[in-house]
Amino acid sequence: MRKAVNDKDRCVACGVCSNQCPRGAISIFKGCFAVVDEVVCVGCGICEKACPAGSIKVNDRRNA
Ligand code: SF4
Ligand code: SF4
Repeated sequence: MRKAVNDKDRCVACGVCSNQCPRGAISIFKGCFAVVDEVVCVGCGICEKACPAGSIKVNDRRNA
């Protein structure tokens, strides 16, 4: 299943992805970077399109 994965080194913790995720799967860890709850994420890709830093990507996680 496809899941969103964030590159915390590129993330600027703007919160755009968290605000737009329809599942509420993203939280901002200590104001530093976005963390995706892989159990809740459905891989819709909204966060990937919305992220201004290009840090969050939806990847195929068939083996996860
Ligand atoms: S892919 Fe969709 S469900 Fe998963 S974290 Fe991004 S916006 Fe939320
Ligand atoms: S939209 Fe991108 S830069 Fe902003 S918090 Fe989410 S992953 Fe980080």
